[in-house]
Amino acid sequence: MSTIPHADRFRALPGDDLPQIVPTDVCLACDVCCRFPERESFLRPYFTAEETARAIAFGASPESFPQPAGGRIRLAPHPDGEGFICPCFDHRTQECAIYPVRPLDCRLYPLSLMRDEAGRALVLGLDTKCPYVRDPAHAPRLDAYARLVGRTIESGLRDVVHAHPDLVGRYQDDVAPRMTLGPLPSSRP
Ligand code: SF4
Ligand code: SF4
Repeated sequence: MSTIPHADRFRALPGDDLPQIVPTDVCLACDVCCRFPERESFLRPYFTAEETARAIAFGASPESFPQPAGGRIRLAPHPDGEGFICPCFDHRTQECAIYPVRPLDCRLYPLSLMRDEAGRALVLGLDTKCPYVRDPAHAPRLDAYARLVGRTIESGLRDVVHAHPDLVGRYQDDVAPRMTLGPLPSSRP
């Protein structure tokens, strides 16, 4: 993933300091993230109003954000293949064009915020669609990361999550719960 000069000109937001847990070289050789089978995939990334404004200031097209007050990005048809891609994804280099200002939803991955199976609680889980997660050798590292992210959400991101309940996705049986973070935000996706 690229480092774009002068990224520090852009306003810092809660969660920006979360580290990328999967090594960059692993991600650059992977074909899972940032690509989606359907245009309206519920997995396309969610941007808060602040994240939207920052992404546009960084160079993303305003047309990619149909809900600038907070919502999921508008996907683009894959230029060379089937399905859809995030419009910020460069399919030739596999890089995110807004990497320094990517939203919390992308920063968390392969962790994911979702409802529990009963639809009552907010759960932080590890997405086994990520091949790095499926390798048992990475489990201790990922569990430590989940604890770090859980603490970060509890201490500094709870207001963001409650202001943006659509950040919390539907229950997915291939996302392995690591932590329950209390009741769901008041309004649901
Ligand atoms: S699925 Fe996992 S390994 Fe693949 S790009 Fe996403 S985070 Fe990286
Ligand atoms: S914002 Fe960047 S990291 Fe997130 S889905 Fe789009 S290209 Fe991928």
